[in-house]
Amino acid sequence: MKKENQKKLNWLGFQKKERLERIQMLKANGFLTDEFEQILKKNENLPLETANQMAENGIGTFALPFSIAPNFVIDGKDYAVPMVTEEPSVVAGCSYAAKIIGKSGGFTTEILDRKMIGQVALYDILDFENAISMILENKNEILKIANDAHPSIVARGGGAINIEVKNIDEFLIVYLIADVKEAMGANILNTMLEAIKIPLENITNGKSLMAILSNYATESLVKAECEVNVKLLSSSMETSIETAKKIELASKFSKLDIYRATTHNKGIFNGIDAVVIATGNDWRAIEAGGNAFAVKNGKYEGLTTWTFDESTNKLKGELILPMPIASVGGSIGLNPSVKAAFNILGNPDARTLASIITSVGLAQNFAAVKALVTTGIQHGHMKLQARSLALFAGAKGKEIDIIVERLLESGKSINLENVKKILEEIKSTR
Ligand code: NDP
Repeated sequence: MKKENQKKLNWLGFQKKERLERIQMLKANGFLTDEFEQILKKNENLPLETANQMAENGIGTFALPFSIAPNFVIDGKDYAVPMVTEEPSVVAGCSYAAKIIGKSGGFTTEILDRKMIGQVALYDILDFENAISMILENKNEILKIANDAHPSIVARGGGAINIEVKNIDEFLIVYLIADVKEAMGANILNTMLEAIKIPLENITNGKSLMAILSNYATESLVKAECEVNVKLLSSSMETSIETAKKIELASKFSKLDIYRATTHNKGIFNGIDAVVIATGNDWRAIEAGGNAFAVKNGKYEGLTTWTFDESTNKLKGELILPMPIASVGGSIGLNPSVKAAFNILGNPDARTLASIITSVGLAQNFAAVKALVTTGIQHGHMKLQARSLALFAGAKGKEIDIIVERLLESGKSINLENVKKILEEIKSTR
């Protein structure tokens, strides 16, 4: 695919730069406006006053590292992806994968649909058949009640569009499907569902147990795909082909064994959650929906599929999952860091953001699986683990790099005791 923004980007040495230099690079590459450059430079964060209004019983704000994974090419457009995570290696792995996949043509995505589902559970129904036909006969009237409860979403071109009914055991479940436009839609749907609760009780002569949005957002599926040029997997073609075959096997393994599938998907969410958090979205909703979707074939499976095509030497990756992400609502407009993340991404709409996040999930999975079938996961982790321990031991500035270098060179165990010994050595030679 031809790239949309033809500007030549320069990310050379990004990972080795200082924080302010990285912000400068983002700006130079056209991913940051003046306003948000200042916000990032000052590390401006969620004001206490706002935080106190957002959640109950507040005693402060809670900070996490805010990072960038550069080199993403998604649907022909370049992106630098903001990620918020405390876990070492996640951003490094994601950036590595983005670079290789970017060189292979990048990610292509497809929004399979973008609607939200909510449900009213009814019980004490005497005649299920009659109740179902009464609901379907009154479908338009029920949809009108739902839409009248939230007229502003209708004015924005969205609103409740369909009703489905299902009898499961002693329950009659009414599913309401709505177009929530740029929102995630939990409040929109919950308002609508609560409005149709009593009318549904009246129509069915039953009782309502609850009315709530479903996080199993099967009407908001997004697909991300990529084709990795196998020769980029290592310097030797033989090793590259072997690695591609192993990645295909690892994908198969993740569909067969729940112990592996859970960890495989955790790796996908390492990337997804980091962007969902950076963009102020509800990561619990995305995790819950994604993990439920992993059981769509009757058992819990790895969400990605990797296949190696020997005729073209391409390793094809695919990730499909529910991605009911928002560009408005929730806490999105309240947090300056979230607004900066949107600025870095070029203020995407909800569909574009869903495509970006799903691509990040696929990238993260590629990085993790490739590491697992080649060097093993600890290889990459060790350096970062040593850094974390050095920080924990109280090392500052250059001391951290010296500790990491000496510890890795020594071949000794990466633990706090050894880190402290090196720190003492450094201090005693001053
Ligand atoms: P909000 O109610 O915060 O925001 C949605 C509102 O944004 C809309 O009602 C609309 O109000 C306004 N809006 C402005 N521009 C647009 C646009 N272009 N498209 C759509 N709406 C627009 O959020 P949601 O209803 O999306 O609910 C999400 C929140 O609910 C999250 O904080 C989530 O954590 C929480 N939540 C989640 C639950 C779950 O996942 N199970 C359950 C309950 C809550 P107007 O038209 O009036 O301007």
